[in-house]
Amino acid sequence: MELNTPLSGLPGIGYTLAKRLIRLELFKVEDLINHYPFRYDDFSKVSKISEVKVGETVTLEGEVWSIKNTYTRFRKVLTKATLNDSTGSMELIWFNQSWLTKNIKVGEKIRASGKIDRFGSKTTMVAPDWEKVEEGKVNLHTGRLVPVYPETYGLTSKWLRQKIASLLPRALFQIGDPLPNSIKDEMLPLPEALNLIHFPQTFDDVAKAKKRLSFDELFYIQLATQKARLDWQQKQTIKPLKIDQEKINRFVKNLPFELTSAQKKVTQEIIDDLQKGHPMNRLVQGDVGSGKTVVAAIIIYLTYLNGLNSLLMAPTEILAFQHCQTLTNLLAPYGLEVGIYTGSRKILQGSSHVIVGTHALLSKTLEIDNIGLIVIDEQQRFGVEQRTLLRSKAKIPHFLTMTATPIPRTVALTIHGDLDMSVIDELPKGRKEVRTHFVPAYKRADAYKFIEAQVKEGKQVYIITPLIEESETILSAKAAKVEFERLKKEVFSHLRLGLLHGKLKSKDKEEVLNQFKDAQIDILVSTSVVEVGVDVPNATIMLIEGGERFGLAQLHQLRGRVGRGSEQSYTFLFSEEENASAINRLKNLEHIHDGLKLSEIDLKIRGSGEIFGTRQSGRWNLKIASFSNLSLIEKSREAATKILEQNPDLDKYPKLRAKLSSLAQTVSPD
Ligand code: ADP
Ligand code: MG
Repeated sequence: MELNTPLSGLPGIGYTLAKRLIRLELFKVEDLINHYPFRYDDFSKVSKISEVKVGETVTLEGEVWSIKNTYTRFRKVLTKATLNDSTGSMELIWFNQSWLTKNIKVGEKIRASGKIDRFGSKTTMVAPDWEKVEEGKVNLHTGRLVPVYPETYGLTSKWLRQKIASLLPRALFQIGDPLPNSIKDEMLPLPEALNLIHFPQTFDDVAKAKKRLSFDELFYIQLATQKARLDWQQKQTIKPLKIDQEKINRFVKNLPFELTSAQKKVTQEIIDDLQKGHPMNRLVQGDVGSGKTVVAAIIIYLTYLNGLNSLLMAPTEILAFQHCQTLTNLLAPYGLEVGIYTGSRKILQGSSHVIVGTHALLSKTLEIDNIGLIVIDEQQRFGVEQRTLLRSKAKIPHFLTMTATPIPRTVALTIHGDLDMSVIDELPKGRKEVRTHFVPAYKRADAYKFIEAQVKEGKQVYIITPLIEESETILSAKAAKVEFERLKKEVFSHLRLGLLHGKLKSKDKEEVLNQFKDAQIDILVSTSVVEVGVDVPNATIMLIEGGERFGLAQLHQLRGRVGRGSEQSYTFLFSEEENASAINRLKNLEHIHDGLKLSEIDLKIRGSGEIFGTRQSGRWNLKIASFSNLSLIEKSREAATKILEQNPDLDKYPKLRAKLSSLAQTVSPD
């Protein structure tokens, strides 16, 4: 057996089991060893039968005096056994496990762990975990801290425990410890940590094991991203760009507004990058409405002035169409041709200088020469597939990624350790904060009245239906449709309503959006697809249903769709859960208007998953560490930096290198 032996190749694992294991993403021996318990049942207290009390969780050890199946009135099987230690007898009861009478025989010694309960008039132990007591066999399922694992149908913790216990000694021997001593310092050696995470004696063991395993997880991310950054700096750019400052100045001066100082600062940071010998790889983070697009436009223009073309990739067609429009307005006067390339529309002049598109840009058939700049908008929506844009080009274009998702700095330095970062930390002048209210259910009618009055004054409204799953599914589309019908029939029957969701054909999406832009629709009922990009300044109200299902930062991004003009705008938050903690969480949005702060609160309350959305967290799926453990993040980052400073190629650390190459799929820029 090796660490990379497929589980399906092990004795006792047939086709069915292997399929169940795959459902848990367990493919090889190593995966199973790294399948960590999510909690432990404390069955460590071994008691005498004469001394147990109702409500206690204990382990009993004794001889089975009887065992038989009985049937309830509803033909359910109850298995009842009598267990005797020298102090007394206890009845054990299991439901629907008739096979137990074949496994447990009268006269055998067993150990049973569970809660002491009353069943009818008797004191019993209901549905205990159990195992036989045999000479020389260590207990796994009873009489100790018992690990409980993420399970799937037909694959129990008991099975996993058994399998892991049998594979562990050999696997740990092979795993060794890839971390150099200088880094490990007072932490447990890896094999010991793995052993204790599965089979701890005490909760202190669990804490120590967690610390080591969390450190490793964070450390390898840091090492991978920092290494990627060093490697990137070795790459050759297609060419360092020349900056025609005069033309840039004129372009900026002719914009319909003055750039904010944050926009100017970030533009300059980008321009500095472009003049270097290696390609730029920069992430621009800025709240919704902070004006990232125009910054991209300036850089695209600059690229054009150097005789090179640009690609701009957006996560949705809606957004791609909108960008195409914006860029045409800004750039056509300077002679740039803007093309579009999405699943449903491909309009490319032979001479397009900028091509705006969706994922479709990644398709192999699209061959564009002379690409000097690639802009990825709403980067958090993409996985690493964007990197395929680079293919195997020897000289690579400059990379500019943009996101409105605020990520706390420590976390950003970790997951984006391969990128340089700029922040547009200022909104254009004259923007009013979106007044945000949590609305309890009994005030729903008032909210609708307010909306009605505002529509009479010519304003427009978004109504956002609850997020049902992270990515737009048939279910969320259906929920939006149901709400749309309800509102049309029962609430706003005399207003003009539109429906938008991700399952619409892109032609229909575009039509709805255009109608909304042209004010032919008063109220747009939509799933959270509008989160990204849509810009309709006359829309001043957003009502969000099921707010508890969204992360705070995500809600902040959503409400950024209103408050785009000079009028006072409003967001009304509804919640399906009305408990204090859900409400208090949402109320943060009433007084905090800084996306970064909100994301930090999210991180504290709900953990990191909420911040990044599925794609991003998929890039770094943390199994055991948490992005809220700032001190461990710092410590692991310092460790990674130190190692790379001494030995950037990692040739002195073959084990670390091997580990990184197994992660490479997820980070490597090419
Ligand atoms: P985001 O950062 O969310 O992508 P956009 O680039 O879509 O923001 O900009 C939002 C709106 O603000 C657009 O209508 C844009 O024209 C406008 N805008 C951008 N920069 C400024 C500025 N400096 N002053 C005024 N309006 C601006
Ligand atoms: Mg944008």
